[in-house]
Amino acid sequence: MNSYSLGILKKEFLSINAKTLMLIKKKIWPLTDLLLKKEIKVWLQKLQYSISDFANKNEIGLALRYIDYFVFSTIIRLLCIEKVRIRSSRSTARFNGCIIKSFIDYKTCFQLFEQSSVKNVNFIIKMLVKVMKIPKKKLGKKRVLVFSNTIDLVFQLQFVSLLDPLIDSLISNKFYGFRKGRNALQAVAYLSKSIQFSDLTEYYVLKIDIKKCFNNLKHSYILKSFPFTKKYKTLLIHWLKYSSIEQNNKKDKLRKSIHQRSIISPLIFNFVLSTILNNFFNDKQFFKYSKPFNLKSNLHSIKAKRFFISYASDLIIKVINANEAGYSFIKLTGLLKIVGLHVNKEKSSIYNLLDKFKFDWLGYTFLIIPKVKIYSSTSINQDERGLVLKNKNILILYLSNSNYKSIKINLKNIIGLLKHHALLPVLRKVNSILQGIARYFSFANNTKRLNYLCHFVDRCFWRVLVEKFRCNGIRRPRWVSKAFFINTDSPLSKKWHLFCSTINQNSTKKQGILKIWCVDVANYYRILPISKVLLPKILQNCDYYLDNQWKFEKYDFKIQKLRFNFTNKSLVMKLFKKQKGICPFCETLIDVSNSENTEIHHVYTLNSCKNNNEKAIAKKLINLKLLHSVCHKAVHSKEKHYSISSLNNGDYFIKFFNSK
Ligand SMILES: [Zn+2]
Ligand SMILES: [Zn+2]
Repeated sequence: MNSYSLGILKKEFLSINAKTLMLIKKKIWPLTDLLLKKEIKVWLQKLQYSISDFANKNEIGLALRYIDYFVFSTIIRLLCIEKVRIRSSRSTARFNGCIIKSFIDYKTCFQLFEQSSVKNVNFIIKMLVKVMKIPKKKLGKKRVLVFSNTIDLVFQLQFVSLLDPLIDSLISNKFYGFRKGRNALQAVAYLSKSIQFSDLTEYYVLKIDIKKCFNNLKHSYILKSFPFTKKYKTLLIHWLKYSSIEQNNKKDKLRKSIHQRSIISPLIFNFVLSTILNNFFNDKQFFKYSKPFNLKSNLHSIKAKRFFISYASDLIIKVINANEAGYSFIKLTGLLKIVGLHVNKEKSSIYNLLDKFKFDWLGYTFLIIPKVKIYSSTSINQDERGLVLKNKNILILYLSNSNYKSIKINLKNIIGLLKHHALLPVLRKVNSILQGIARYFSFANNTKRLNYLCHFVDRCFWRVLVEKFRCNGIRRPRWVSKAFFINTDSPLSKKWHLFCSTINQNSTKKQGILKIWCVDVANYYRILPISKVLLPKILQNCDYYLDNQWKFEKYDFKIQKLRFNFTNKSLVMKLFKKQKGICPFCETLIDVSNSENTEIHHVYTLNSCKNNNEKAIAKKLINLKLLHSVCHKAVHSKEKHYSISSLNNGDYFIKFFNSK
């Protein structure tokens, strides 16, 4: 497919724009019109496709022209405000200026829409940003948070939505941080596979950790090389140099930093680092150090044997001998210095993997036993089905010690809060942490550690609860067990499983009691070999925005299906599978790992059931849909903005599904 000409995109834009403006005139938030929303989505995909495509052909000027033309258009502005609106229900981040108070606060949305026009660029640039220093719990360090203005956030989103396809095409596909369709686990999987199947006599790993990557990038370099439209360069300068007010109202200019809180900074960082690495790997000097050096005959194999892989500021470079490793380290340190970045020497080093070596990366410990050193022990050299693997180095991959320690300390501290707080909020917090741990660590050789962690959490809760209710007398341990631990209806059929009862607000039955269970971190997902999450070769070389979005989503669905433990919430899983992972309301992928993000919707609502018979039918699978919590809220929102507003929600939904 070719990219769309500016003319075609403009023409389509004009027709959509006319409809949009008409709705705005009527004070109807245009994105509540689902047909229009769909049209807009398709159009945006075409635009992003074109930008990505031009970048791929190295016609960056052309791509920027497209961005220039559309970045302040009605549609892009609306979409970005919509993002802020959806966020408003999730995050607690506070901003100055207009604040969207709730999910249905369309009034503020319209205000933001007015303010986000191109006329206000100069106004934004003059605005000051509040910087607050919030003490970190650990080590007494201070974390700087920038409380940006909401409209500033919208401006940044506008640029990010169109710059992302551009940068995505320009940076290396071995970058796994801050990108659509890629994540840290895939990076771990890639390195694991490479270690398992390579000749370790030629395997040197260079681990490089970059200090405070966001804070040190030089502005002059960014302004010179980062692709940005000339017309709005002042905005980029503004984002880099944020004039700020400190808490004590002293004015201060931040000269050499991009803020972590700004959404555009990961794009900039990825771009700069990728440029440096590409230059480094294309440098002929580098190949001097490879011994049997014959550039003509095996340039391809030379490149194949060396690679880099990065997740944000954590970088791994693989080379084939000690000389190369030493040279690379010095050379790269120098190149990074030019743009203001410093290598964290304590956390960086060179590993020769031949001597049964281990190193930590991205929270995991990689412990390697080369195949040449395995003589008789067959028991260790088996895969999960018990088959003996001969031509493979052994890689033992587990949650690293330091990480394990800090996870335990963190959990203990939070459970300790129970002394002064109620059980429910503490349990919710612990659960969300445990879910995160399970999501990232339910792989490879982590079974033991996760099992232990599960007991650890139980024990901590038990101890604190017994202390909390110390006025309940001598028999309180027994009382605590009965009140919080022993039960018969655990979803994992455990007899001993921490729970907390609460009133179910989502339930249509007036006084439904909901039991919140402590997440069993060892059984939340199935523990799989890390190779299962390796990005398939086809996708590794894919640009996300070049018609491949659905491929990534399909792959993501496959992984989720594989990982999820059925016994846990089978109804959710049934619906998830039936819908192929897609939320029928917004037509994007659902992440089922976090139960708070999903909701089961009854198409024909339980409220409108006249008798138990009807209720039984309404509870059947055919009447149920799995939705994002956000989308579910939208479906039930009392606002009559939705296009088929005269119908009640149930009817409206049936109509919506039938029309597809
Ligand atoms: Zn949705
Ligand atoms: Zn519902």
